[in-house]
Amino acid sequence: MRDIWNPWHGCVKYSEGCRNCYMYALDNRRGVKRPSDEIYVTKQLKYPVSKDRKGNYKIRAGERIRVNMTSDTFLEQADQWRDTMWDCIRERPDVIFWLLTKRVPMIQDRLPKDWGLGWDNVMLNMTAENQRAFDERWPVFAQIPAKAKGICCAPLLSPIDLEPALSSGQICEVSAGGENYDNPRPCHYEWYEAMSELCGKYKINFHWYETGTKLVMGKTSHFIPRKPDQAKIAGMSGLNRFYGRPNLILRDPKDSHILAPDELHVPMYNPIHCLHCGNRDMCNGCDPACPQRDKSYRLVTAEEITKLDAADDLWRQGK
Ligand code: SF4
Ligand code: SF4
Repeated sequence: MRDIWNPWHGCVKYSEGCRNCYMYALDNRRGVKRPSDEIYVTKQLKYPVSKDRKGNYKIRAGERIRVNMTSDTFLEQADQWRDTMWDCIRERPDVIFWLLTKRVPMIQDRLPKDWGLGWDNVMLNMTAENQRAFDERWPVFAQIPAKAKGICCAPLLSPIDLEPALSSGQICEVSAGGENYDNPRPCHYEWYEAMSELCGKYKINFHWYETGTKLVMGKTSHFIPRKPDQAKIAGMSGLNRFYGRPNLILRDPKDSHILAPDELHVPMYNPIHCLHCGNRDMCNGCDPACPQRDKSYRLVTAEEITKLDAADDLWRQGK
């Protein structure tokens, strides 16, 4: 299922977390001819408002879409396309848009004129890859109005004390992951563990979605090159915390009525592949119509897979 919208592609390195940027690495592996620091608009510029042959939006009501995963939403070189991005988001008040940036000082001047205290369908996220980035960005991010805010600690490069942000009452989600692809730097289990504990203290969702290629636990280093293995190890760690989806209000694009749960997309999961995935609470689930789907398993709801997960935990503990 598509859960990423990249209206533009390419980026200029900005801080320590960008040193081994995965977009640069993937462009290189895929033989992309244009330089990765050249920013250009993609064919997906208006993807959220595109429709299928039956006239239905391709993105369903209630889905969560991550925006600009191969660039930065508030990059100044993308100023010319950002109004179109906002227009698409405005036209789909039934979809959750998850925006992420390292360029926190650029946000305020690049919000749409009718932003007010934030839009009901937008979750604004800042990246904090290390303590220094957090200390610089959080005081600015704290001043920006938004209906839902999160912090993405990826690639996590140091322990980070998130207390000033989590105690502010503004943050509803922390996501974290390690570094991958070229020259990945190690990440320590204890850093994730401390974040999880702090999120528990404030009842804030914590999603450890992947370990990164090099995970250090105590004095032992682990090499985990495959992302599905990383997501499984993170998911099985017991560190993830989920207190419910961010409290955003989704509305019907035609008549603006508030959508009831039965009008929203219900994520469905593969009982084997999704069982311990650290991404599960953030993703839109498996697409029942996906041609690559493993049809030997009946897809199950979030509640069913949570029960399976708990039962599997007990089995592993020998209870
Ligand atoms: S901001 Fe993100 S996309 Fe841009 S260079 Fe840094 S890591 Fe890469
Ligand atoms: S939960 Fe399932 S569908 Fe979602 S990211 Fe993990 S494996 Fe993929």
